[in-house]
Amino acid sequence: MDIFFYNTLTKKKEKFEPIEDNMVKIYTCGPTVYKDATIGNMRTFIFMDNLRRVLKYNGYNLKHVMNLTDVGHLVSDGDEGEDKMVKSAKEEGKTPEEIAKYYTKLFFKDLELLNIDMPEIICKATDYINDMLEFVKKLMANGYAYETSTAIYFDVSKLDEYGILSGIDVRKQKAGARVDVDEEKKNPYDFALWIKAPENHIMKWDSPWGPSYPGWHIECSTMSQKHLGEQFDIHTGGVDLIPTHHENEIAQSKGCTGKIPARFWMHGEFLLINGGKMSKSLGNVYLLKDIIEKGYEPLVYKYFCYTSHYRNKLNFTWDAIEASNKSLMKLRESYRRHLEGNEDVEDDVILDYKNRFLKAINDDLNMPLAMGIVWEVAKNEKKSKKFAELLLEFDRVLGLKIDKKDDIPEEVLKLVEERNVARKEKNWQKSDELRDKIQEYGYRIEDSKEGTKIEKIK
Ligand code: AMP
Ligand code: ZN
Repeated sequence: MDIFFYNTLTKKKEKFEPIEDNMVKIYTCGPTVYKDATIGNMRTFIFMDNLRRVLKYNGYNLKHVMNLTDVGHLVSDGDEGEDKMVKSAKEEGKTPEEIAKYYTKLFFKDLELLNIDMPEIICKATDYINDMLEFVKKLMANGYAYETSTAIYFDVSKLDEYGILSGIDVRKQKAGARVDVDEEKKNPYDFALWIKAPENHIMKWDSPWGPSYPGWHIECSTMSQKHLGEQFDIHTGGVDLIPTHHENEIAQSKGCTGKIPARFWMHGEFLLINGGKMSKSLGNVYLLKDIIEKGYEPLVYKYFCYTSHYRNKLNFTWDAIEASNKSLMKLRESYRRHLEGNEDVEDDVILDYKNRFLKAINDDLNMPLAMGIVWEVAKNEKKSKKFAELLLEFDRVLGLKIDKKDDIPEEVLKLVEERNVARKEKNWQKSDELRDKIQEYGYRIEDSKEGTKIEKIK
C-alpha cells in the first residue's frame, strides 16, 4: 500500500518512495544534552518512533541517524549568548563533558521507558569536529562563507533561494531589522558556521581561524552527509527547528553540494501545557519522571500522544493523562480477553481491519484514526485469539506493550482466581472478603457480563 507523508518542503502530502529500493535513510535532530528532556521533547521522539515503526511495518529497512548536540547550540538562535553546554557546566560546577554524559544517559533512559525504537546510528557533535571543519572550509572555497572578527558566517545572499522551508522572504528583511545584528554581518540572515572562542572559553579547537568552535547547524549537515550521503530520504525534528536550524542546514548543504539534503522534511508539532507554552518561569515544565512519580506507567504518556495527529498541537493536562491511563489498561485487558477467547473469526474480517489500520498509518501517520481501528478490534463482541494476534501485530507500530501483564502483581491475580472460584460456588461472603483483600493491594474489581475486570486504584 502506498505511503503518504506531509512534506514541509513542498507543503503537501506526497507519496513516499525511498531513493534506494528498500532502504529508508532518515536523519533526526536529537536533543541538546545540557538539561533534562521534557515531555515536550519526548513528544517529538515519540513521533520519530512512530515514523520508524510505520516504515518497518511496511517492510522497509532503515538507516537512521540521530545526533546529540554537545557543543555549539547557543542560548539564542540568532547566534548570540553563551553555548548552552558551557552555561550549564558553569551553573552545575561540572565540565561540559560531564554535563553531556549525565543528560545523555537520562535521555536514553526516557527513550527506553517509552519503548522507543532506537535509530541505527547515534552520534555526538564533538566526535565530528574535523569533519565539520572540512565542511566549513569547503563552503569558504565555494564562496559561501566569509570571516569577521568574531566568526565565520554563511552568506545567504549567495544562494539562489534562502527560506524555502519556512517561506521567509529575505529581500523584505532590511539589515539591522533584527535587534542585535552583528555589524560585520553582510545580511541579517547570515548565520555562524564557526565561532571564534573568547580567551577563556572552555570548549574550543584549533582551526585556520584560531581557537574556535562549531555553530549548531553545521553539525547536522556534516553528520547527515557523512552517514547518509549528499541526499537522503527523510529529515525530522520539531516545528521550532523549521525557520532557523533546518533552513540553515539546507543552505549549508546547497553551498556544499548544490543539493537540498533530504527529500522529505517532517516536523512534529508542540506539546502545550494547559493550553500554553511550557516554561520554567511558569513552573510548568514536566518531565517523564513527574508522570511516573504520579503513579503512571511511562507508556501512558505515549498512549496520550496518539490522541492527536503529530502535526497538531497537543494539550497536556493531568485529566487527559488519567483518561489515557484508563484506556491503556482497558486495551491490555481487552487483549487478554481475546487471548482467552475461543470464538472463530473469518479471515476477511481480520483482513479488513488490517487494511484499514495500514491505510490510517500510511496516511501521514494518522495515529488517532489508527487507534480508532485498534479499539474496534479490542471491543469486538467476539472473543477470539485471532483478534489478540491482530492487536499484537498492531502493537508493532504502537509500541504500547499491549501484552504486558506485570501491571497486576501475581498475588493479586491469585486472589482474583480464588474469588472467581468462590463466585462459581456462590460463596458470596468469601468473594467479598477476597475483594477487600484485593483492594488492600490497590486494585479494584468490577464484575460484568463479559467477566471480571481488574483496575488499579489511583
Ligand atoms: P532541544 O533539546 O531543545 O534541541 O529539543 C529536542 C527536540 O524536541 C527538538 O526536535 C525540538 O523541536 C523538540 N521540542 C522542544 N520543545 C517541544 C515541545 N514543547 N513539544 C514538542 N517538541 C518539542
Ligand atoms: Zn539538527
